[in-house]
Amino acid sequence: MSRGEAIGCRSIQIFNQSPRAWRPTRYTEEDFAEFRDRMAESGIESVIIHAIYLINTATPDRELREKSRTALMHALRVGDSIGADGVVLHPGSRKQEDPVPAIVRSGEMIGEALSETERCPILIEQMAGHANILAHTFEEIAGIIEAAGGGERLGLCLDSCHLFAAGYDIGTYSGIDRMLEECDRFLDRHRLRALHLNDSKEPLGSRRDRHEDIGKGRIGETGFARFLSEEAFDGLPATMETPGPERKGAVASDLALANRLMRRGRAARHRRKQ
Ligand SMILES: [Zn+2]
Repeated sequence: MSRGEAIGCRSIQIFNQSPRAWRPTRYTEEDFAEFRDRMAESGIESVIIHAIYLINTATPDRELREKSRTALMHALRVGDSIGADGVVLHPGSRKQEDPVPAIVRSGEMIGEALSETERCPILIEQMAGHANILAHTFEEIAGIIEAAGGGERLGLCLDSCHLFAAGYDIGTYSGIDRMLEECDRFLDRHRLRALHLNDSKEPLGSRRDRHEDIGKGRIGETGFARFLSEEAFDGLPATMETPGPERKGAVASDLALANRLMRRGRAARHRRKQ
C-alpha cells in the first residue's frame, strides 16, 4: 500500500500471497485491522486482490482442483477481511479439451468458492487468448459466470493489453465501441467492475500477453487517450501492471501520464461531439 500511496494512486492491486506458489500467507486479525486503518488514512479508495496464477478452475485433475479451490477461497476471505472490491481471477486453461465442459467446471468451482465465503466478488479477467487459456472472449466469460450461478458477486475485469492482444483495437474509437458492443451482447454492463491498464508489446490480435508501459507500446499515447476517456469506464478502479522504468512497476510519472492522457482524451471526445 505504501508504494501506491507514495505515487498518488486512488486504487491499488495486491497479491494476498506469492502469486507463483501455493503456500498461503497466514494473516492475523491484527494484520487485517492494521491494513484497514492504513487504508482509511490513505487517499486510496479501492483495493483489489489478484488471485495467484497457479489456480486452474477448469482442470479435471482432482488434486489441482482442491488446491485451486482452497487458494481461491483464501483470497476471497482476505478480501472479506480487508474490504476489497474484488478478487481478480484468471480462470485457467482448458488444455486440449473442448471449451464447454471446461467452462462448466470453472464456473462450478467459482460458485463453490463464493458460497463458502461472504461478500468479496470474483472479477473474471478477460485474457489475451494465448494457448488454451479460458476467458479471452466475452462469450466464454458469460458462460463461466452462468455456470457459477450468475450472482451479484460475479464481475469482469478488463485489461487493455489483453483486449488488444485478443483482437480488439481499443486504441481507436470504433474498436472501443465494437468491444463494448460485444461485451453487452453477452454480459450486463454492471458486471464490469475493474480495469487493468497496460500497453502491449505485441501487435493487435497477437494473442500474446506482454505488458508495456502506458503509451510506449502498440496501443500508444493516442490510443490510451481514447481508451481512458471512454465513459463506460468512469469511476472503475484501475490499476497498472506495467514494467515501469526500473522494471519494478509503475511509478508516479506513469500515473501522471495516464491522468494526462485521460484528460486529453476527454477533451478530444468533447470536440468530436461538437
Ligand atoms: Zn491478471
